[in-house]
Amino acid sequence: MEIRCRKVNCLYNRQLSCMAKKIEVLNNGECGTFIKDNAKNTAEFSSEIASLNPKDVALNCRAGICLFNRNGRCCANGITITGGKQSADCATFIER
Ligand code: SF4
Ligand code: SF4
Repeated sequence: MEIRCRKVNCLYNRQLSCMAKKIEVLNNGECGTFIKDNAKNTAEFSSEIASLNPKDVALNCRAGICLFNRNGRCCANGITITGGKQSADCATFIER
């Protein structure tokens, strides 16, 4: 799964790509693998940051009401995680 992630203060975020081996998306569409890294800049996302090629990240998703969810697997081609103030939410989520 290719993941673009704008949660730039996550421990696993590197230039808008997720470097975790596996992530878990919770039933409310939040990334449950997010770990805040206080050493990272929490300033607003800059579109000037060059993004890396996304790597293949394993993903389990508990958001059963999402159109792309098939028995805990996400069948989207790729997802985008947003960089909200508190949580990191799946922006690809579409309610069935
Ligand atoms: S918030 Fe989730 S998707 Fe984004 S870098 Fe962190 S673990 Fe990966
Ligand atoms: S698109 Fe839907 S199924 Fe895929 S990770 Fe996001 S919320 Fe889960």
